[in-house]
Amino acid sequence: MRDYHVTQQVSEQSEHQDRLEDSAAMSNIQPATELAQGIFASEPTARRYVLSHCEQDGKLRCPKCDEARVYRLSDERLRCSRCRYTFHELSRRWINVGGLSCLDWLRLLKLFEQELTANRMAPQLGLSYNTVYKAVTTLRFSLLSQALDAKQLLTGAFGLDLGFENGRIGMEKSKERMGSFPVFGLMEKSGWAFVDLLPYMTAETVLHFHFNFKLKLERMGNIVYSDKYKHYDALIFCGDETIPLHIINGRDRQAYVDSLVSGFWRFAQDRLRQYNGVTSRRFPLYLKELEFRYNHRNEELFPLLVSSLCRLVPEYE
Ligand SMILES: [Zn+2]
Repeated sequence: MRDYHVTQQVSEQSEHQDRLEDSAAMSNIQPATELAQGIFASEPTARRYVLSHCEQDGKLRCPKCDEARVYRLSDERLRCSRCRYTFHELSRRWINVGGLSCLDWLRLLKLFEQELTANRMAPQLGLSYNTVYKAVTTLRFSLLSQALDAKQLLTGAFGLDLGFENGRIGMEKSKERMGSFPVFGLMEKSGWAFVDLLPYMTAETVLHFHFNFKLKLERMGNIVYSDKYKHYDALIFCGDETIPLHIINGRDRQAYVDSLVSGFWRFAQDRLRQYNGVTSRRFPLYLKELEFRYNHRNEELFPLLVSSLCRLVPEYE
């Protein structure tokens, strides 16, 4: 059986910063529906709830070939009657990364829903900061894996920069320079936000447009965003000290997105400011999380987060 696990020590101290501190006051609120289901009562009730998000029509399918006919072995494992793959109920799923119990996961998702930082979650969960940080990163990967451009972000050079390789998440801080800084186009249509990876656009190209074609740029720490570009409301990337971000001057006119009083950019900017030390390496994870949160802003996030975490870790050829 193939195991997905998180490697090495977490060292991205810069992401320690608390965000949305006010929301901490909202912790421990559990919607009546979940309380009624009693899913937080014990590990078996939590596991039952988690498994219901792994099943299709009340049955677990083979995580390798999607065959519905699977049978249980005497040691409780399952075996696929088509490809003979032997697996556990949570095999190959994001939730299997990191070794948390189902109950710990559900409690963590509850706090994540309320936008608590890993720092604030850890004492509430009685877990170490590193354990919580790894879990939250895994959850963010699961959210990103649902995006239309997930394959581009999780494979090749982008995947290596993000720390994802062959189904494994690397937690160690890469010593190597980022291959490139992914550039995203932001767009909002009918209340839906779209954060599109623009694979052929580089941070250098955006800076070039700034200098030679007067594309207006604004800077928030290492995060750079632009005025309207083609059909996008803005281009955005997160750089580091290896590119000349200091030459960006925020004078003159306003960038288009800054002229808007509501919508995705307002929602995202407030939160990105709270992410203070977000690294260029993890930036796509945060951006995709914000896209997810915004597009589901009128829904209860908790069951969606459980579903996301129960998805199979994608394997790309
Ligand atoms: Zn199978």
